[in-house]
Parts: sequence; structure tokens; C-alpha cells
Amino acid sequence: MAIEFSFTADQEAFRDAVRAFLAKEVAPIVAEMDEKEEFPTATVRRMQEEGYFGVPIPEEYGGLGLGKVGYCLFLEELGKVDASHGTIVGAHTSLGTTPLLSYGTEEQKKRWLVPAAKGEKLLAFSLTEPGSGSDSGAVHTVAEKHGDGFSITGNKIYVSNGREADTIVLMAANNVSLGPNGGVTAFLVDTDLPGFKVGRCEKKMGLHGTSTAELILDHVEVGPDRVLGEVGKGFHVAMTALDVGRVSLGAASLGGMLAATQQAVEFSKNRTQFGLPISEYEAIQFKIADMAMRISALRYLVYHAAARQDRMGPDPKSWSRLERYDKTREAATVKCLASEWASEVIDEALQIHGGLGYIRGTPIERAYRDARISEIFEGTNEIQRLVVSRDVLGRGL
Ligand SMILES: Cc1cc2nc3c(=O)[nH]c(=O)nc-3n(C[C@H](O)[C@H](O)[C@H](O)COP(=O)(O)OP(=O)(O)OC[C@H]3O[C@@H](n4cnc5c(N)ncnc54)[C@H](O)[C@@H]3O)c2cc1C
Repeated sequence: MAIEFSFTADQEAFRDAVRAFLAKEVAPIVAEMDEKEEFPTATVRRMQEEGYFGVPIPEEYGGLGLGKVGYCLFLEELGKVDASHGTIVGAHTSLGTTPLLSYGTEEQKKRWLVPAAKGEKLLAFSLTEPGSGSDSGAVHTVAEKHGDGFSITGNKIYVSNGREADTIVLMAANNVSLGPNGGVTAFLVDTDLPGFKVGRCEKKMGLHGTSTAELILDHVEVGPDRVLGEVGKGFHVAMTALDVGRVSLGAASLGGMLAATQQAVEFSKNRTQFGLPISEYEAIQFKIADMAMRISALRYLVYHAAARQDRMGPDPKSWSRLERYDKTREAATVKCLASEWASEVIDEALQIHGGLGYIRGTPIERAYRDARISEIFEGTNEIQRLVVSRDVLGRGL
């Protein structure tokens, strides 16, 4: 286990450049985006132009080549500014490009990964269905053999970027009765294929800049060139993507916690009650201490997990079974703790703001609404605890 860790000068320079970009181009539009509940097309375009939709992807495939550590640095900065933009990037990069990088053929990488990493095309990831949420292997969207390819029919729900994406990494059942062990296949479904339609888009408590879409597939015909990985091995494809997603979600949560804590610290120094700034009262100081402690602990967890994923590389064939188990347990740990600590820290930050924290349109009020979903998506925290406890009971600590 590697325990020494520091950022390189290049990584720090990248983080500083991202920070300046986001302050100038993204931060100013976030409140209006949230209020209008609009997908932030213009800022997404600018981020795509900067290469920010392909941060961890190797340069040979059109990305910035900064690995998972660089990607987490990026998402931490983005998480400080806005969770909607973080979710749009995460759905595309963690969940869309990871499967292509890890399981795509050279042909598929040229056709789908390169334009996605360069920011010319937007990706989404679709596993969830009305009857299949936590039990994500129970996929009922069917992929029937049709010529040398498949015909896909079914309904998917809750797809982030589902309304805007050019291509969906979509799980369908090649054999419903086999479930996750041989019955699920990952497909590359372009959204302009005949038979594909975007259905209802949900109204949500937070993440107002993201679409959360239903997808309707009515005999969508796909050739063998659109099968990602092996037929029947789609569940592995999805889980590999989610291991990356859970760590990057941790990085975005870390950013959210940092921003909320900084705002609370600032507010507490400037708000006077009973003749003193409220930062002088121990009740407030202890809250700030608890918030800072969670931030310190999470920073190590996130970057330790990201560095492990960089060391392992993107090729699943090169991973030993033990490496895979360690990676998955660590990703579940990061996701679960990050999302719960983010909710707690942002809640305390809101409390420090008093009534102002509850007023619509303040950054802390938006952060509070945006944070809650992280305990639910990319696998609920109950499922993360199942992943961790099964591994501990099977292999020990
Ligand atoms: C805003 C948003 C964006 C999303 N984006 C995407 C996306 O891009 N792609 C995608 O595929 N999905 C996406 N999802 C779906 C998300 O991943 C699921 O909502 C989540 O996995 C939970 O599934 P569910 O909602 O069906 O809840 P359920 O699985 O029905 O769970 C209900 C409750 O039961 C608990 N539970 C279930 N099984 C067990 C068990 N065995 N032991 C203990 N407790 C259990 C759960 O933890 C939860 O508390 C998104 C959802 C939202 C709301």
C-alpha cells in the first residue's frame, strides 16, 4: 500500500488553471442556471473546448492525459463551483469514456472515444430501469439477436445527460434469465438511431443544470460494432465505470465541502451577535473543527484511491483478482463517506449561516439541495455498505 503522496508541479499548475477558468467562466452563471433549471450549454461548450471532458483520457485518444489524479483535481475544483457541471462531466467522463477506454476495440476508440475526449460529442451511461435500481443486474431492456447484431427494446430511466447526449453506453439484456452473470451486454447507442427517443425529463430537488431523462428504445437495431466488450459481460463494463465514478464523485463532494466550509468560516467571522463575531463562540468553532477534519480525511481517501486506479491502468485484463477487489472496496468506501460527510458538512455550514442559509438563491442553499443525491446515485450508500461488508466478511480487513 502506497502511503506517500504529493501532487507534481504540473498537477498543481493544472489545478490553478482550472480554478481561474471556473471562476471566470462558470461561477457567474450558476445561480441563474439553477433558478431557470436549464442545461448550461454555453459553459459546457467552453469546458469541452478546453479539453475538460477528457481529462483522464490518454493524449493518443484525444484527452489531456492527466490520469485519475488529474481528473479528481479537476472535479474537486468543479465541485467547489457547481455540482450540476460536476455531474455532467462525471456522467460523460467517468461513466461514458471509462468503458470505451477499458473495453473498446481500437476501432470503437477512434469512432467514439476520441470525439468524446476532445469534447466534440457528449456521452451518457444508462443502467437504471423502472424495475432495476439497486438490483442493477436485473436488466429488462432486451437485446434480441437480429442478423449479426441486436435489436434493443425497453425503457431506461434517470439518465444524466440523457437529453443532450450523442451516444449512450447502455446496458441491455441479451438473456434476461441469466441476469448479471452472462445476461447483460453493454451497447454504444447513438441517439439518432431509428427507434430511439428521449421520454420524460424529471424535475428535481437539486442538480437543476442536469437532465435526468427517460430513454425509450423501440427495436433499435445495432450492429456488432456497437457491442462494447463481450456479449454477456456488460455488468463488468458497468461496474468498472462505477468504480471510477465513485471516486470522482468523492472528489466533487470534497470540493463541495471545501466551498461550504470556506463560506461558513467567512460568514462566522463577519456575523456579530451578542456583541461578538459568532466565530468566537465554541459551538461554532467545534462545528468548523468537525468540518475541517472530514475534509482532511476525505482528501487522503480520494487521492489514494485515484492514485491506485492510475497505477492499475485502464486495461482490466492486466488486473489481478485481488487488485480488483481492493479497487472496488476502496471506491465504495470513498463514495459512501464522501457523500455522507458532504451532506453533514454542508448542513452544518447552512446552520452557521442561520436564516440566510435557508434563503433561495444563496450558494449554501443550492449546495444543500445538490449534495443529497450523492448518497443515492452511482449506487445507494446501502449498496456501498453491502459491497464493503461482503468483501470484509469474505477476505477480511
Ligand atoms: C438525479 C439522478 C441521476 C441519475 N443518473 C443516473 C445515470 O446517469 N445512469 C443510471 O443508470 N442511473 C442513474 N440514476 C439512478 C440511480 O443510480 C438509482 O436511483 C440508484 O441506484 C437507486 O436505485 P432506485 O432509485 O431504483 O432505488 P431502489 O433500488 O428501489 O432503492 C430504494 C431503497 O432501498 C434500498 N435498498 C435496495 N436494495 C437493498 C438491499 N439489498 N439492502 C439494503 N437496502 C436496499 C436502497 O438503498 C434505497 O434506500 C440517477 C438517479 C438520479 C435521481
